[in-house]
Formats: sequence, C-alpha cells, structure tokens
Amino acid sequence: MLELIISLVLNVSAVANVPIDFDVRSTENERVYAQHAVGKSGQHYLLFNLNHMGEVSDYKKKAIVAHEISHAMVYYETGKTSMKHGFEFKKACKKIAEDSNVPFNKACKRSH
Ligand SMILES: [Zn+2]
Repeated sequence: MLELIISLVLNVSAVANVPIDFDVRSTENERVYAQHAVGKSGQHYLLFNLNHMGEVSDYKKKAIVAHEISHAMVYYETGKTSMKHGFEFKKACKKIAEDSNVPFNKACKRSH
C-alpha cells in the first residue's frame, strides 16, 4: 500500500510540476486519511493512514494525494502550515487537480 501511495505522490507531483521533495510515511492517526506536515529542518512529510487508504478506490487515493500535495504547495509558496481550505489552498488545489486529472470537488473539498 505504501509503495502505491509513493508512486501516486511521485506521479502527481511530476505532472503538476510541484518542486517539493516529500518524505512519505504511514500514520496511526485514526482521525485522518492523510496529512501534510513540515519538520524543523523544512522537510515535507506526507503521512497516510494505510488502513483508511486501503478502503477507498485508487481514483480516490489519487484525489487524497492531490489534496495533501496542495497543502504542501501552500506552505512552499506562503510559509504557512495550515489545515485550512481557503483561497490559497483552493487556487493551488485547482491547478494540481487539473494537472493530475482528478475532479476539483473530489480533491479540494474540506474533508481529510
Ligand atoms: Zn485539507
């Protein structure tokens, strides 16, 4: 499962020209499918709950990956770590969703 998610992260970030190096890891946090985090060194982490990710279609997995990469892109461009889904998030997510061929509504809505 983690290998599949890593390949989705590489694919989406390549087609959307996202200039960020991600460390992809699993999380035991039951409350999320996925989340973006930034370490003290500036390293970006994409954390995925592998149980939850295993329950959704590959198409939905790709939308979730696009959503989290959008959070990373907002941080990269603005320096803000935010769980919010405001203007900057929607702008980044719209482009990444279009480039990676997933619907805006699936990738960019509030839910994690
Ligand atoms: Zn989000």
